[in-house]
Amino acid sequence: MVYTDTRDNEAKVDFKTAVMNGMNSATGGLYVPVEFPRVDISKMMKDGKVDFVSAAFEMAKPYVEGEIPDEDLLALIKDAYPFEPKLVKIDGQTYVLELSHGPTCAFKDFGARFMARAMSFFNKSENGKLHILVATSGDTGSAVGSAFHNVEGLDVTILYPEGKISPLQEKQLSTFTGNVRALKVKGTFDDCQKLVKTAFTDKDLREKFRLSSANSINISRLLPQSFYYMYAALLAKYENPGKEIIVTVPSGNFGNLTSGLIAREMGAPITGFVAATNSNRTIPDWIATGDYKARPSVETYANAMDVGAPSNYERIAYMYSLEDVRKLFASYWLDNDGIIKAIKACSDSTGYTIDPHGAVAYRAWEDIKAGALDSLENIDITKPGITPNKPEWADKAKDAIGVILETADPAKFSAIVKDATGKEPAIPERLQKVMALPDRAIPMENDYNKFKDWLVANL
Ligand SMILES: *Cc1c(COP(=O)(O)O)cnc(C)c1O
Repeated sequence: MVYTDTRDNEAKVDFKTAVMNGMNSATGGLYVPVEFPRVDISKMMKDGKVDFVSAAFEMAKPYVEGEIPDEDLLALIKDAYPFEPKLVKIDGQTYVLELSHGPTCAFKDFGARFMARAMSFFNKSENGKLHILVATSGDTGSAVGSAFHNVEGLDVTILYPEGKISPLQEKQLSTFTGNVRALKVKGTFDDCQKLVKTAFTDKDLREKFRLSSANSINISRLLPQSFYYMYAALLAKYENPGKEIIVTVPSGNFGNLTSGLIAREMGAPITGFVAATNSNRTIPDWIATGDYKARPSVETYANAMDVGAPSNYERIAYMYSLEDVRKLFASYWLDNDGIIKAIKACSDSTGYTIDPHGAVAYRAWEDIKAGALDSLENIDITKPGITPNKPEWADKAKDAIGVILETADPAKFSAIVKDATGKEPAIPERLQKVMALPDRAIPMENDYNKFKDWLVANL
């Protein structure tokens, strides 16, 4: 597969280059494959059922062709996914796609675990270790730390702002041994990012170590997220022949939704999408007004979606015109009060405990299947709710099958869920285990020279 760049159509690189570089530093653009081949759906079936590993293999193959042999790709996928997405029916026309069954209990495991193994595969033809440096404000760090843990040839240093992430998040990224370690920096997330960025531009350091990042914009995190869209859409279609499938995606940086678009291009039977956000409504506003205005993020209960300048906007706008986006997407946003009410409503009417991120998608789909797309006049886009945009599938919405993405286990947001429902969500065993591990974070001053000295002495 040839990959080009959202800012330069002349750019042409292979998968390895796109993975190892993360982005095109010459233009600042993001890598995208030049095509999204249709896949053979019959090859994704095993014993008459949709098989996740087979789906993943068929979906990944065209993107790594000639660079990762089939048997290595299959081994990589099996190693990355000892868990599966689960499609759970919660009412007559709604499924929840649970993406939280991986080690860190959030959907980022799907992308991060594939990326780690792809990097490790390509690193085998290089000399020595590849050192990954990541700055995190919480969730990314734990997914990356866990995904890279004990993966051959890779070594990870995570920087996080001391005292500024949740106790559970801190446990999830600071308790590793071996090839993954965390530095708790006396500073903010921006300070952590600055330390990492300075390291990447430090010639002296780069002569000593091969450095890389594990950024969420890496194409090797996006492609594997398309696997579960294909899997879920096929399952939902087989259970509901002849019905349209609408997928609602709780979104922040819009990587997850971009992966859904990729799956649809490759033949997943998805009729349309609902782009659902919290109060960070940059994309709903863009769809409503046609003006894309990035803005500072605001804090919400669905905090992994607190993004005011979603980086994958650039990929979506590269792949589709605004007119196409308006045909394909409904859009919706929800404030904190709405999030609490949605968690409670979901629990009361279906018995299903949903997390604050999934709750945004739940409310959006509830309103749409109840007819929100029928009357779009006089909508004030500064108030929570449906965006005044009628997608092509609007007339079929009330009769469609909805798949809403549940991106995290509710136990990760226990206090908010308890506030809403009065009940503490059950804590999965793997989270309980992590909570009991000793904290191994290494204290670090917000001082580049001290950080560098530490790297030189310890990597
Ligand atoms: C990262 C994250 C999101 C947002 O996903 P994007 O790909 O950034 O849109 C939603 N929910 C949870 C729990 C997340 O961790």
